[in-house]
Amino acid sequence: MLNVPSQSFPGSSSQQRVSSGGRSKVPLKQGRSLMDWIRLTKSGKDLTGLKGRLIEVTEEELKKHNKKDDCWICIRGFVYNVSPYMEYHPGGEEELMRGAGSDGTDLFDQVHRWVNYESMLKECLVGRMAVKPAFPKGMLPKSQVTDPLAKEGPSSPSYDWFQTDALVTIVIYTKQKDINLDSVIADHRDDSFRAETVIRDYSYLIHIALSHEIQEDFSVRVVENVGKIEIVLKKKENTSWKCLGHPLENHNSLIPKKDTGLYYRKCRLISKEDVTHDTKLFCLMLPPSTHLQVPTGQHVYFKLTITGTEIVKPYTPVSDSLFSEFKEPVLPNNKYIYFLIKIYPAGLFTPELDHLQIGDYVSVSNPEGNFKISQFQELEDLFLLAAGTGFTPMVKVLSYALTNIPSLRKVKLMFFNKTEDDIIWRSQLEKLAFKDKRFDLEFVLSAPTSEWNGKRGYLSPALLSEFLKRSLDTSKVLICICGPMPFTEQGMKLLHDLNFSKDEIHSFTA
Ligand code: FAD
Ligand code: NAP
Repeated sequence: MLNVPSQSFPGSSSQQRVSSGGRSKVPLKQGRSLMDWIRLTKSGKDLTGLKGRLIEVTEEELKKHNKKDDCWICIRGFVYNVSPYMEYHPGGEEELMRGAGSDGTDLFDQVHRWVNYESMLKECLVGRMAVKPAFPKGMLPKSQVTDPLAKEGPSSPSYDWFQTDALVTIVIYTKQKDINLDSVIADHRDDSFRAETVIRDYSYLIHIALSHEIQEDFSVRVVENVGKIEIVLKKKENTSWKCLGHPLENHNSLIPKKDTGLYYRKCRLISKEDVTHDTKLFCLMLPPSTHLQVPTGQHVYFKLTITGTEIVKPYTPVSDSLFSEFKEPVLPNNKYIYFLIKIYPAGLFTPELDHLQIGDYVSVSNPEGNFKISQFQELEDLFLLAAGTGFTPMVKVLSYALTNIPSLRKVKLMFFNKTEDDIIWRSQLEKLAFKDKRFDLEFVLSAPTSEWNGKRGYLSPALLSEFLKRSLDTSKVLICICGPMPFTEQGMKLLHDLNFSKDEIHSFTA
């Protein structure tokens, strides 16, 4: 639905625009970029046709507004007139029309629940849905369902707390064995404390307004074999607490992860280094009041306010180099997060990011993504297909596999770029291939100079079948693919044609 053009940007003449199908690739008309949309929303024009009035919308009324030039959509109880936005929607008008005159929340969540529609569409707000008199007997509104998992999900965790003179410890009993430090994301802000424990596709939330003040930093420990999490808070004063505090929204509830919303904290820009002519390594520091570790293969969202509108874009953390797994961490608790980010001079978000000064802040969300470390289990051959910054998820995947998977025989990376100058971390990759005999590397360039002796061109059946040779006929393989959307889609199709099963392929997308 209202997707920001995160993956839609190859220019109209680019090879990336050639493939068809899928979402977020509809070329927009001149003057219909996200920036143009933001300008229109700031122009003072009446975009709802209601002259600034907000109304209560009944279901009957909503249904009537189902045409392109009169299109209302409800998202999470708020109704927007999206007709003025039609031509600006990167996913195209048709996709937006799928929600016309109806509740588009599920459609929206399926595609891009992270897009900050409240900010982008605030001038299109028509009003709220009229509240229905009651929920059908025996049903509760979603947010109050504390254990929706009775049938298919994990059993509901519980928590307890205890104190000493100086400390308060919150203990979460998940009753799961696959819990580790990556599973817990905790933030202390003002007097509130929020800890989200990710258990497969669900989140268990502790969300409390604390009864007393605590120091900024805290520690998190996990007893992995019993799934017990201990969060140790430091009291500001050595007094005895009668209670932990009072519950805030969704406290002590287990809810599907997709319903939790994105939670952000401000991270400080520590350094910014050139990697190629257009790509930089950004280092951000998490606040001491946050515990967050981004799992391998997952991404986060950055949020910046650009000319008054909050814009959100996804980025994938990397390590500071391909060799950092072997170094001692500089700070405890992985407080630094690194990102390789390509700056598009005509882009909306990356020039803003590039203008940030050292010491400035950017809001960073909780991790998202469906890559699971369990996909590495018993893995023998790992094939990585990356194009441009699609290399970013491969960084941690590569390091993790080489360091932690004893069954691994071979890792091969095929890295597609336009020119030699565009290759991110080329010398590090070559050094790694030299050092670790399990790792092979192949660069493919679409616009090389005449001196280039390596492979040239694009993804093709011939290129892939030669590259994807198993080290043994029976090897367990995983193929990871990431790049511009048409690249990923074309790659997936070719892989299916080559008879690789769904379980053997992982594509990185938003
Ligand atoms: P945009 O405004 O999106 O524009 C980029 C370019 O396309 C510009 O040249 C612009 O003029 C052109 N353009 C925009 N819209 C159109 C259109 N409709 N038709 C034709 N041309 C158009 N990127 C990284 O660098 N590093 C990462 O680690 C990373 N991780 C990601 C993880 C995920 C899960 C996803 C989905 C994307 C990731 N990206 C990453 C891409 C990132 O989210 C942004 O899309 C990217 O930074 C571009 O943002 P922008 O706003 O600067 O550019
Ligand atoms: P780019 O430089 O435009 O493209 C990289 C290479 O891929 C170029 O050689 C390009 O060829 C080639 N290519 C493009 N489309 C192709 C296709 N359909 N088939 C074969 N080759 C193709 O890439 P970029 O600007 O760095 O963009 C990287 C993309 O990766 C962005 O869309 C970003 O959103 C995405 N990304 C996604 C994730 C994720 O989902 N987790 C993470 C990071 C990045 P040309 O010479 O024709 O351009």
